[in-house]
Amino acid sequence: MGKKEKTIEDTLRFVHMVSKKQGWALNPDPEFLSNLVDGLTINYNRYGYYACPCREAWGEKEKDKDICCPCVYNVPDQEEHGHCFCALFLTKEFLISGKEITRIPERRPENLQPD
Ligand code: SF4
Repeated sequence: MGKKEKTIEDTLRFVHMVSKKQGWALNPDPEFLSNLVDGLTINYNRYGYYACPCREAWGEKEKDKDICCPCVYNVPDQEEHGHCFCALFLTKEFLISGKEITRIPERRPENLQPD
């Protein structure tokens, strides 16, 4: 891809930076967080961008721009459910509420998903 490979540490820095800047919280479970960070790192090094780690990507930036992390569905999902589809980012309110993270409906329209 001509881009420098990302390390796990690079991605961890990235997710911390994004959540801090936006006033969100990160998933508090270290193992869960680590799996998502691994997935993001793999996707970056495979596609050249941070494709969502819990969705299937097209592998073409233009077609995946809606699911480049943080994806366009993240804010509405946080507003409605307290966390994003992957549960990487949570609202601070949700975090302190102690509510359980649940599987939420996919907001990405079917016609934008790979078959
Ligand atoms: S669902 Fe969460 S982890 Fe996946 S791209 Fe959106 S913000 Fe990132």
